[in-house]
Amino acid sequence: MKVHHLDCGTMRPLGAPAGLVCHVLLIETPTGLALVDTGVGGLLGRPSPARRFGPARHLLRPSFDEAQTAVRQIERLGLDPADVRDVVLTHFDADHVGGLADFPRARVHLTDAEATAAIHPATRREKERYKAVLRSHGPTLVRHPPPTGESWRGFESATELTGIAPGIVLIGLPGHTRGHAAVAVDAGSHWVLHAGDAFYHRGQVAGAGRTPVSLRAMERVVAHDWRKVLAHHERLAALWRAADPDLVLVNAHDPVLLAAARARADTRTRSAGPIQRSRHEPGPERASRISCRRAGGRR
Ligand SMILES: [Zn+2]
Repeated sequence: MKVHHLDCGTMRPLGAPAGLVCHVLLIETPTGLALVDTGVGGLLGRPSPARRFGPARHLLRPSFDEAQTAVRQIERLGLDPADVRDVVLTHFDADHVGGLADFPRARVHLTDAEATAAIHPATRREKERYKAVLRSHGPTLVRHPPPTGESWRGFESATELTGIAPGIVLIGLPGHTRGHAAVAVDAGSHWVLHAGDAFYHRGQVAGAGRTPVSLRAMERVVAHDWRKVLAHHERLAALWRAADPDLVLVNAHDPVLLAAARARADTRTRSAGPIQRSRHEPGPERASRISCRRAGGRR
């Protein structure tokens, strides 16, 4: 599947002079379009930052630009936003669901735990982060309970979302929020693993580049379970060190990882041509071999 790497929002927390992007994946599936996250805002989803972010807006300092909405970027690619039939969420924080209202007919996939947390916030932190206004347009939520016996490259709790297309995998990585998830997408010549907010800065997994102190502090303050966040850092760092040429690891907010992913996608486009489908285009055979490894075949 062809994957576009969009930047759907800018945030400028203090101590992060390069700013933060909102990395959104646009996937051309065999039957339509799918998004992974939707960014800071949309044409319809733009109530005031105070209503959407609460006091966190003073930390994140988000900015809204219509040109950055997923809708406008899809149009600029020559595609039709009405073809977005599915949105897969890493989690329900305001900077990830801001554009949801622009796709009212899309099914919104997320973990069952994240849906429960967003609708029935239990802790003070959850009540602060999950504003009812974020789902006031009544999105159709498709809850995915923890799978039994499936994994993806050693990550347990993986669910292949075959209802969208083979080669899109929801991977539970709770910690940043109660039901946070990563999403793996088969891009034909490689896989893209979008880790959402499982880490904020490449320095936390790549060991290169210093993670700004303010980002580390913010990550800890907003974490639902900090110990799990640290465990995911280690796990993803091991994945980074393995340097699998078949895998591109990105997160939601690191601008350098976004640029690297775009460069990789551009390279593939130039080599394959704009229309010709890669010989690696995933068929059912490839999807079953790589995407979701059954418990019996777990590595
Ligand atoms: Zn975020």
